[in-house]
Amino acid sequence: MADPDGRATKYVFVTGGVVSALGKGISAASLGRLLKQRGLHVTLQKLDPYINVDPGTMSPFQHGEVYVTDDGAETDLDLGHYERFIDESLSQANNITTGRIYQDVIAKERRGDYLGATVQVIPHITDEIKRRIRLLAPGHDVVITEIGGTVGDIESLPFLEAIRQFRQEMGRANVIFIHLTLIPYIAAAGELKTKPTQHSVRELMEIGIQPDILICRTEHPLDENLKRKIALFTNVPREAVIEARDVETIYEVPLELHRQRLDDVVLELLEIDAPPADLIDWTDIVTRVKAPTSGRVRIAVVGKYTDLVDSYKSVQEALIHGGIANDVAVEIDWLSSEDFAGSAREPLQPYDGLLIPGGFGERGIEGMLEAVRWARENDLPFFGICLGLQCAVIEFARNVCGLPEAHSYEFAPDSPDPVICMMDSQQNITTKGGTMRLGRYPCRLREDSRSRQIYDVAEVSERHRHRYEVNNAYREILEEHGLAMSGLSPGELLVEMIEFYDHPWFVGCQFHPELKSRPTRPHPLFASFIGAAVERASGDTVSDEAKETGAALGAGD
Ligand code: GLN
Repeated sequence: MADPDGRATKYVFVTGGVVSALGKGISAASLGRLLKQRGLHVTLQKLDPYINVDPGTMSPFQHGEVYVTDDGAETDLDLGHYERFIDESLSQANNITTGRIYQDVIAKERRGDYLGATVQVIPHITDEIKRRIRLLAPGHDVVITEIGGTVGDIESLPFLEAIRQFRQEMGRANVIFIHLTLIPYIAAAGELKTKPTQHSVRELMEIGIQPDILICRTEHPLDENLKRKIALFTNVPREAVIEARDVETIYEVPLELHRQRLDDVVLELLEIDAPPADLIDWTDIVTRVKAPTSGRVRIAVVGKYTDLVDSYKSVQEALIHGGIANDVAVEIDWLSSEDFAGSAREPLQPYDGLLIPGGFGERGIEGMLEAVRWARENDLPFFGICLGLQCAVIEFARNVCGLPEAHSYEFAPDSPDPVICMMDSQQNITTKGGTMRLGRYPCRLREDSRSRQIYDVAEVSERHRHRYEVNNAYREILEEHGLAMSGLSPGELLVEMIEFYDHPWFVGCQFHPELKSRPTRPHPLFASFIGAAVERASGDTVSDEAKETGAALGAGD
C-alpha cells in the first residue's frame, strides 16, 4: 500500500494506560495535525473494544455524543476531534468496534469462507483487525490508529495482539507505538509519581509491545531528572518522553506537543523526511480562543443531556469556533430543559443567545418549548438544531398558529396536529441500530432567506441523524404566520431549515451543522449565530439589515 507519491504508508498506534479519559483522542488528533502541517497525508482511526456494532444505540450518558460522518456512520466522539484537528472528512472505515469485527468474522464463518477451520481470536479476529487497519493505507503517508480503553482491559487484548503482530509484519521503520500515561501529583508527598506509568508500560511489554514514545499527562512540569527516570524504567529514549501538561484549550495541544518535538521524534522513527511544520494559522486560532479582542457573549444551551457535556461535544466546539470567527469569548451555560417548564422567563434573561441541540425522547420537551417561546418573544437570538428545530415548529404552531395541541409524533402519537411526523420510509422500521436518516444530504436554500445570505451559496450538504421531519401538511399554515421554510431537500419533499423573519436571528435546521465546523473553518451558521449574540450583547436591538431580510420573507410570499 502506498501514498499518492508511491511511498509506503507508515502506521502510528496510540494506546493509553493508568486511567481512561487522559485525552488520547486529542493527542492522536494533535499529532495528526502536526504531521499534516509537515506536508503529509494523514488519517486517523479509532478501534473501540466494546461489543456494540457502533455507538448509535448507546445512551449519550454512557458514551457522550454520537458523531456522524458524511457517509452516515454513527461513530465515537473522538472522530469529531479527528475531523476538527485534521480537517478531513472521515468515514465508517475510521471507527471499528469489537462488535463490528465479530459481526464480519461470524458472517464469513456462516458463508463457509474459513474452509473447515476452527474460528479463533488468533488468527481470525486479529487478522480482521489488521485488515481494517490496512484498508486506510491508500492515499495516506501515515495512518494513526487509537486503541480505545486502557491497557489491561480484557476487551482490548485482541486489538493489542493485532497491533503487536502488525509491527512484526511491517517492520520497525513502518510502525511505531505511542503510549499515553498519567504522572499523578500526590499532594501528601508533594511529589509527581512515576510508578503507575512504569506499571502500565510493563503491562504493555508483557504482551510484547515496547512503546517508542511516551506522552505523559501531568498537571505539573516534569523536570529533567524525572524524565530520565521515566526513560530508564520504561526503556524509552529520553527525547521520546514527552510532557503533556494541561492546557487552557484543546487547540493548544498540537503547539505544546510540537514544542516538545513530538513530530520530529515520530518522523525520525518512521524515517520520513518532511519540511518543518507551519503552525502560523493554528497559533492564530489558539490566540483567538485564549485572548479574544472583542469581548464575550453568553450562550444558554437548553437540552436534556446537560449533566454530561460530552453529549454535546461538537456543539460546544462549534460554538467556540463561532467565537473564533467573531474574535469573542463564548461562555456556554448548559441548562437542563427540565428546569424550564413553566418558568422560562427569568433564566434566559442574562444570555445573548439560546441554542437547543439534538435529542431523543420526551423528557424535558415542555421546558425546551418554553425556552423557545421566550427567545422568540424577546428577540433573543435562537438556534435550533434537529430536535431544536422540531421544538421551534411545535412552539410556533401552538402559540402563533393557534394549534394548542400541536406536537411531534415522537412524543404524542395521538396529537390532532402532528406538526412533526415520521417519514414514510421510516414507518415500518422496527430495529434501532443504524435506521435513522443518517449522514450527508443536500439542502437548497431559499433565494431571499437569511440562511442563503449566511451560507452565501444556493445549495449546501449537511449531516443528519434523526427519524422525524416537519409534517408537509402544516407547511402552509406555518409560512402564513411567518415561519419560513428556508431550506428544502432538492425534491422539496423535506424541510431542512426554518427561520422566523420578524426576529433578529431565529434559525432552525433539521441537520447537525456542528459536525462540520472546524477551528480553521468555523461553520457559517455558528459564526452568524455568535455574531447575532455579539450584537445583542452590545445592546443593539434588531439590526436594520436583519429587519430588511425579515421583511423580504414576509408572510405567505
Ligand atoms: N428525536 C428527533 C428525531 O428523531 C430529533 C433527533 C435529533 O435531534 N438528532 O427526529
